[in-house]
Amino acid sequence: MSLCPTAEHVGQPGPSTRLESSSAKTLMDIGTRRIFNEDHDLFRQSARRFFQEEVIPHHKEWEKAGQVSREVWEKAGEQGLLGLMIPEEHGGVGGDLFYAAVMWEEQMYSNCSGPGFSLHSNIIMPYVSHYGTKEQIERFIPRMAAGKCISAIAMTEPGAGSDLQGVRTYAKKDGSDWILNGNKVFISNGWMCDLVIVVAMTNREAKSPAHGISLFLVEDGMKGFQKGRKLEKIGLKAQDTAELFFEDVRLPADALLGEVNRGFYYLMNELPQERLVIADLAIASSEFMFEETRNYVLQRKAFGKNLANLQTVQHKLAELKTDICVGRAFIDSCLQLHAEKRLDAATASMAKYWASETQLKVATQCLQLHGGWGYMWEYPIAKAFVDSRVQPIYGGTNEIMKELIARSIVSPK
Ligand SMILES: Cc1cc2nc3c(=O)[nH]c(=O)nc-3n(C[C@H](O)[C@H](O)[C@H](O)COP(=O)(O)OP(=O)(O)OC[C@H]3O[C@@H](n4cnc5c(N)ncnc54)[C@H](O)[C@@H]3O)c2cc1C
Repeated sequence: MSLCPTAEHVGQPGPSTRLESSSAKTLMDIGTRRIFNEDHDLFRQSARRFFQEEVIPHHKEWEKAGQVSREVWEKAGEQGLLGLMIPEEHGGVGGDLFYAAVMWEEQMYSNCSGPGFSLHSNIIMPYVSHYGTKEQIERFIPRMAAGKCISAIAMTEPGAGSDLQGVRTYAKKDGSDWILNGNKVFISNGWMCDLVIVVAMTNREAKSPAHGISLFLVEDGMKGFQKGRKLEKIGLKAQDTAELFFEDVRLPADALLGEVNRGFYYLMNELPQERLVIADLAIASSEFMFEETRNYVLQRKAFGKNLANLQTVQHKLAELKTDICVGRAFIDSCLQLHAEKRLDAATASMAKYWASETQLKVATQCLQLHGGWGYMWEYPIAKAFVDSRVQPIYGGTNEIMKELIARSIVSPK
């Protein structure tokens, strides 16, 4: 059963009478923001219920295990919450970008970072849908949408992160097969994945490494593919971030995704969407942290009155809300642009950089307003604080975002 309404409403923005979040009762109110309509609101109610019923009650246990359950993936699949933007004819849900945004925002509002749904649905599934052959699409997308094939993407290596062209993982042609060797690190969904898109060199003699990189679909259980340990992180405790090792993995010709030596081009095409997702996750998390903190200072007593009665606290809340709402306006505009296929790479980089820095600032200041309790794991703000720290790092560091923005400023038109 899909909770996402049908395609006839796709792309219809809401009426101009909808409140923006700055004027709404809370920053997480359902029925707000011009980019959404009433169908998105109904979907938001269902997604919110899903996180309340199927994710929040289990998250503590998953944090201890360093991974979520397979069942939660399958439940999300059963309810049509995965692959929301992937066309129905490919086996996805066929919703628009805004349904996908509702889903990842609701995950942030639940403060549960464990299930790697947005990476799977909005970063990895599009690679298969955009560059896969008919057979690859038929083989993987329906199972991915059902939550039965969990996916990861492996770009980063111990010696190559920001400098993606420095990857050493190498796939050598052997007849019609490929032999893959190398290792990857920091791979989200890495421990649980059934399918991983691996970035590998295929032509070491190319005029630049960018012209010699290809993407491969590697499946769990292939001989020579080993998963390393789940990495111990300071945040994202229930996320199974792992190392992956490939030793003489024999891949059939149909494991190649897209054309040989075009991998870097595909990555550059898809990264703006990844950056937009991170940016919206950042603002949604900031909205969550703000509401948590507002509730906290309204009930916490000090010097005979509520913290919220102190003018310094009120001013701090005013600053935070303004920062978040300014960020929200820009990110909603980027979402709208992306829905119209008009979001350029530099603007997506600005969104990622600005929103993740805002999130860090909001996290620090909201935790401060909680005092010592904010440092205690039992308080949601503590988890949101540690989870926020990775946002300026992954998906391209914010320093790299500035490089991309700067290039668009100084390079001749
Ligand atoms: C929790 C987590 C999940 C992740 N998930 C994935 C995943 O699913 N798949 C995947 O492939 N990767 C993943 N990553 C990896 C992530 O994308 C990289 O960590 C990131 O791209 C940075 O690479 P690096 O760690 O090698 O740092 P480095 O590239 O070594 O950078 C170190 C520092 O130098 C700065 N720097 C580097 N080059 C420049 C430059 N040219 N100009 C200015 N400053 C520069 C960086 O900004 C950074 O501050 C994940 C990382 C984490 C922590």
